[in-house]
Amino acid sequence: MEIIETDCCIAGGGPAGMMLGLLLARRGLRVTVLEKHADFLRDFRGDTIHPSTLEVMAHLGLLDALLAIPHTKIEQLSMQWEDETFPVADFTRLSTRCRYIALMPQWDLLDLLARAGRAYAGFSVRMRTEARELIGERDEHDAWLRIDGLQAVGPEGPIEVRAKTVVACDGRRSRMREVSGLTVETFGAPMDVVWFSLPRRDDDGEPPLGRFAHGSIFVLINRGDHWQCGFVIAKGTIDALRARGFDAFRAAVASGMPSTVRDVEARVATLRGWDDVSLLSVSVDRLQRWTLDGLLCIGDAAHAMSPVGGVGINLAIQDAIATSNLIGRILATRRPTRDELDRVQRRRQWPTRATQTAQVAVQKQVIARALHASEALPAPLPLQAVAHIGRLRGVTARLVGLGVRPEMPKDV
Ligand SMILES: Cc1cc2nc3c(=O)[nH]c(=O)nc-3n(C[C@H](O)[C@H](O)[C@H](O)COP(=O)(O)OP(=O)(O)OC[C@H]3O[C@@H](n4cnc5c(N)ncnc54)[C@H](O)[C@@H]3O)c2cc1C
Repeated sequence: MEIIETDCCIAGGGPAGMMLGLLLARRGLRVTVLEKHADFLRDFRGDTIHPSTLEVMAHLGLLDALLAIPHTKIEQLSMQWEDETFPVADFTRLSTRCRYIALMPQWDLLDLLARAGRAYAGFSVRMRTEARELIGERDEHDAWLRIDGLQAVGPEGPIEVRAKTVVACDGRRSRMREVSGLTVETFGAPMDVVWFSLPRRDDDGEPPLGRFAHGSIFVLINRGDHWQCGFVIAKGTIDALRARGFDAFRAAVASGMPSTVRDVEARVATLRGWDDVSLLSVSVDRLQRWTLDGLLCIGDAAHAMSPVGGVGINLAIQDAIATSNLIGRILATRRPTRDELDRVQRRRQWPTRATQTAQVAVQKQVIARALHASEALPAPLPLQAVAHIGRLRGVTARLVGLGVRPEMPKDV
């Protein structure tokens, strides 16, 4: 079996894992990122890069390279409630360098971070390598006493990675958190999202980002040559949706789209069957404690985020920055203690909790109500207030675009 010795082993090359890998490598550390897929090419991952992340990329000298990648921009967000349009966030009111959300395929961001990391001798990304088990010492009840690394399987067979710290960045279905025995609190989600693409035309303009109507919620994201569409369904109802047949699905999509989009039927007709759509199951949860001695979980592995507000990538990246800021210097000389790893949780728990609390409230008060309503509902009061008071749209832009506690890399 191949054995690797490294300062930090990162399980999962998503936004959290790749950003942390790059930051630690910039500190001169040896870092090994394991990513189970062969490439970063996966459709319908969150593709939003927020103003705070753009600020971080500028700090790292990577903003020009990032913005050279084809992308679209969201400067203002609006929503349609039944058939009335409400402005909800105005990113041009921010004081950041980039006053917009950039939309680009997530794999372009991850590729850029990987390329930037490869400039440092200590940086290694192993694709097609799946983290399977933790290694270390257990007590007589099989609970972990300390983690010394992990076992993985790569294209050439099993690998053992020994590290001063393992950081689990392997997403909402984290294998590392499963085998860690850490306790997860779940907060439920009333919905799943069916994603697909529809043709976009140059004269489409900028319709609202989403439409909430009684019984349906539709999200529409401008991806340049196409619309990325999210059709929100009540949790666990995909089988019932399929049973009604694809024609019925097309009809539901056509009637759910924002009313400002024309020629809806012709566009929906480009969907040929269920292979053209993919279901993303939504979950919201959080670890009670994010660490063991030698293991730290961050990003969705520590706290699965709802798509509400599209802030999960931002949080994952900010967790990675806090991790580098808090334990990077220690890792250069020794293994951080569990208490030192806990500092990351202490710093990031509050923004996570605040964001998830807001997401769960929106899921219950707005999404579940809209999905289950059989007749038109009045627009929620906060939506009406934000639409009428311009300054509030700066506040929502701050919450979505910068998050509750933005982080900035230190010493790198
Ligand atoms: C329907 C939906 C839509 C969303 N839309 C948005 C959005 O528009 N904007 C936004 O900011 N957030 C969005 N989110 C949330 C966002 O996707 C996550 O919060 C974010 O991707 C978390 O980043 P991460 O790096 O922690 O995990 P992930 O992005 O999940 O990355 C984990 C990585 O680990 C790899 N991996 C998994 N297991 C292993 C293993 N055992 N070994 C090795 N590698 C492994 C995976 O292949 C993956 O590359 C959405 C979520 C959902 C459910």
